[in-house]
Amino acid sequence: MQKDYLFQTPFLERHRDTIAWFTYPGFMVGFTALYFWGLNAGIAVETWVITVTVINFFVTLLFEQLVPRNRKMNCLHDTQSLNDIGHGILQAVSRPLIQSGAILLFAFLNELRLQQFGQLWPAHWFFAAQFALALLIGSFMDYVVHRSFHTFDRLWYFHVIHHDTPHMHIMKSARVHFGEEVINSAIKPLPLILLGAPTEIVVFLGMWTVFDGNMVHANIHQRFPAWFHYVLGTVHLHNLHHAKDRKYQDSNYSGSVPLWDILFRTYNHPDHSEMGDLGLADNPVPRGFIRQVFFPFSAQFRLKH
Ligand SMILES: [Zn+2]
Ligand SMILES: [Zn+2]
Repeated sequence: MQKDYLFQTPFLERHRDTIAWFTYPGFMVGFTALYFWGLNAGIAVETWVITVTVINFFVTLLFEQLVPRNRKMNCLHDTQSLNDIGHGILQAVSRPLIQSGAILLFAFLNELRLQQFGQLWPAHWFFAAQFALALLIGSFMDYVVHRSFHTFDRLWYFHVIHHDTPHMHIMKSARVHFGEEVINSAIKPLPLILLGAPTEIVVFLGMWTVFDGNMVHANIHQRFPAWFHYVLGTVHLHNLHHAKDRKYQDSNYSGSVPLWDILFRTYNHPDHSEMGDLGLADNPVPRGFIRQVFFPFSAQFRLKH
């Protein structure tokens, strides 16, 4: 038989709708367990975060070839996949640079906060409760920064690189212009650091964001009860955000928690939406990698003042 994806078999074809109920919880619970197992086994957190990120990427890649969500969106057939990897490498390199610069400022602000207000973070709460609070605050920052990227033209020229795709698969999770990543990593962690959230919470939130960011872009068949789309970010919500139709593209900004979209009335439920095609209706982004890297900067000069 002509295969749409690498490991297509009659067995997987027959059971794909059943498997789809387990893919999201399997990945999120499984990788959270793997993360804490490694830490308890005494592996250095810096090494383990990178290792788990790499394992997560390859397992996602494998599942896209076992139970794809959309047979026509295979990363192996997408001519932009290499560019996606290129953007992923650039942003991975730029992130530690900005973080090492920001760490001195954060330490200074933290000291100032301790002197002025003392300890603000509820460090005596259970880990899960502290994590839930961090997730809420983190996704509020996601919401504000992401919505700004859609609202202001100068910022949109960076973010448009992420939206420049009619395909959705794991590589698109990496397709973020390094300029956007610099802004993200300088602004998003600020409230948590100013509140004095413990490092283990901030690091696990970063890990969760990787798992979740990969799942909402992955071309893995995932099914949820309708109410779940109000609770946590899902692939269906994020695909709507990648729609060509501006009505949907300018909605569902929140990262892991849709609450902020619901509160600020930018929420669209996948069951009540006609998504249409993904990508950009009027696409200004060049096809070549180098030109894409320079695009947000050169586009600034084309803006009318
Ligand atoms: Zn966006
Ligand atoms: Zn996206």
